Amino acid sequence: MIHIQAIKAFQDNYIWLLSESGSQQCLVVDPGEADVVEKAMKSLNLALSGVLITHHHWDHTNGIQALTKDRNIPVYGPDNAEISGITYPLNGTETLTVLGTEFNILKTPGHTLDHIAYFANPDQDDPILFCGDTLFSAGCGRLFEGTAEQMLSSLNKLRSLPKNTRVYCAHEYTLANLAFARAVEPANPSIKEYRNKVIQLREQGRPSLPSSLELEFTINPFLRIDQHSVITAVKEHAPCTVLSNDAEVFGALRHWKDQF
Ligand SMILES: [Zn+2]
Repeated sequence: MIHIQAIKAFQDNYIWLLSESGSQQCLVVDPGEADVVEKAMKSLNLALSGVLITHHHWDHTNGIQALTKDRNIPVYGPDNAEISGITYPLNGTETLTVLGTEFNILKTPGHTLDHIAYFANPDQDDPILFCGDTLFSAGCGRLFEGTAEQMLSSLNKLRSLPKNTRVYCAHEYTLANLAFARAVEPANPSIKEYRNKVIQLREQGRPSLPSSLELEFTINPFLRIDQHSVITAVKEHAPCTVLSNDAEVFGALRHWKDQF
């Protein structure tokens, strides 16, 4: 069975630490910092056996060099020469077995063009998804490199995963995202209920993550662009914008959030 712990980094990043019952081996996802990873592994008596990277941004990759300096371990990540230290470049079609678990690699361009996500459906537990900066709880990544069409198609790919998938995002943005979700759908009771729960968790210094796809379907406006309430809110916010298809609704919603 895989155990997953959050290591806090920088202001609001999470580096996810994966370990397996009965083993001292562990993996980290998106180590933007090495020191915090070393400290966590030391306190848990774990040894690093590999690194997974979702995209090229520095706050997800800066720890690679220090973590691999004295370790001969695989670093999996996008096939992008800009990221130094990747030893197994992935193009988004592979399956990968690490820590005794098979992960499917999903190509998820939009936030960046090289973005990939890692999905596993272990026998004894709910499925898990490491989606970097593509999907956040109650939100989604900014479009730094890709188009609205690309991001929407990436999110649709994630949407099609089993609804009990546990979603491990790379940032603690949930409360800020919920403020926007509430502005889009003020009458959605699930947003209010979830917000109260997240406020409590954050007051206790606990992560709001992982989320689940099932929950995101009820509260995340970016996964709800087919809902009448969301389309109406986007139309009211940007009355002059043409909204003739899902990508245009998504693009207008993302643009609204960028200025929120
Ligand atoms: Zn990023």
